[in-house]
Amino acid sequence: MSKFIAYRCSLCGTEYLPGQVTYTCPKDGGNLDVELDYETIQRKYQPEDITSRLDFSLWRYEPLLPVGIPKGDATPLHLAGWTPVFRLPRLAQKLGLKHLWLKDESRNPSASFKDRASAILVARAQEINAEVVVTASTGNAGAALACMAAAVGQKAIIFAPKSAPPAKVAQLLIFGAKVILVDGTYDDAFDLTVKAADEFGWYCRNTGYNPFTAEGKKTAAFEIWEWWIEAHRDWHQEGSQLDNHAPLSIFVSVGDGNIISGIHKGFKDLLRLGWISNLPRIIGVQAEGSAAIANAFRAGTEVITPVSATTLADSISVDLPRDGVRAVRAARETGGTYITVPDDEIIRAIAELGRMGIFAEPAGATAYAGLVRAAGTGLVGPDDPILVLNTGSGLKDIRAAMKAVVEAPIIKPTLGAVKKIL
Ligand SMILES: *Cc1c(COP(=O)(O)O)cnc(C)c1O
Ligand SMILES: [Zn+2]
Repeated sequence: MSKFIAYRCSLCGTEYLPGQVTYTCPKDGGNLDVELDYETIQRKYQPEDITSRLDFSLWRYEPLLPVGIPKGDATPLHLAGWTPVFRLPRLAQKLGLKHLWLKDESRNPSASFKDRASAILVARAQEINAEVVVTASTGNAGAALACMAAAVGQKAIIFAPKSAPPAKVAQLLIFGAKVILVDGTYDDAFDLTVKAADEFGWYCRNTGYNPFTAEGKKTAAFEIWEWWIEAHRDWHQEGSQLDNHAPLSIFVSVGDGNIISGIHKGFKDLLRLGWISNLPRIIGVQAEGSAAIANAFRAGTEVITPVSATTLADSISVDLPRDGVRAVRAARETGGTYITVPDDEIIRAIAELGRMGIFAEPAGATAYAGLVRAAGTGLVGPDDPILVLNTGSGLKDIRAAMKAVVEAPIIKPTLGAVKKIL
């Protein structure tokens, strides 16, 4: 029996049966939350039934997901998620913090957080026998969809702005998707994809449109929950003050607002099951030039006013965020906040993470840039435990990476030349 019992509109609260709607609320266009049969899950499972599983991918959380694991051998689709968490003691010291970790989402099969959403989406597409899955993407959502679709032989079509970084376009093509580059912005590609999906009967994955993307993204919250149980124990054994510390603060970069909403949803699922008693603080970080959600948060409203986005962090360059309302709530309902950072601080963050052995694309380093700000302004205290997400690999955007470093010298192949530059 499926645990997926209904959709609920995040704006008007109307409930719909699973077969009744596919994307957003027909009344007001609100994003739909997936409702699970929490009572049955609670009756059937204890937290240990999940945390003792030997499936080290996001599919270990199948009992809490609205789709089943696609059958067959292990493929990239079966191996999305379960990304590592590193301690960053040198950066912590530099920022005057004691407890800093980074969860590295660049370790996903197509090297970004988006694999979580696309794995669940493709599983859903197979369940409903969709012939073609289509998405608009700045690059990563498309690469993730193309990768997961290729893994199980599903047809995929990707609409991306023609300005997408070449490495991301290469991924789309290599994974064998039909790639259509749009002479326009991501927002133009988004609207076109919705129209094309309607016209041709394709299943549309668009972020902040298809309710299943957040269900994939919430698996990061489950992993953080499991990791935190362990980390918390170790940390207390090291002699930290017991149980009167601040809650975990999670820093997330935000474009459409679907990652932050998905993470919030994951923790809310755990709360409804009674498996946690408090939500961690969720802090959204946007590029100053693409800050529609941060603007709304600061104005104390859920009305999202579009901007004309200008940031080199292409993955979070969005005029009209498609999951803005839930993204505002993710911070507001968890005691979190929004921070904005200029592009030069994002570039600096790429360099600083690089020196710790972590290669982030601009949007991936944005969360850390936000933490640098937060530590500077006292928004986080020295004792606060902090987890920063790196959402995407630096190899996806070499042009941006090269802005963070000094180019290497070119020399004649002689020892004299080496001596001269040392
Ligand atoms: C998509 C993406 C984000 C932002 O996610 P949203 O759901 O659009 O807020 C951040 N970083 C990377 C690398 C991404 O690809
Ligand atoms: Zn509604």
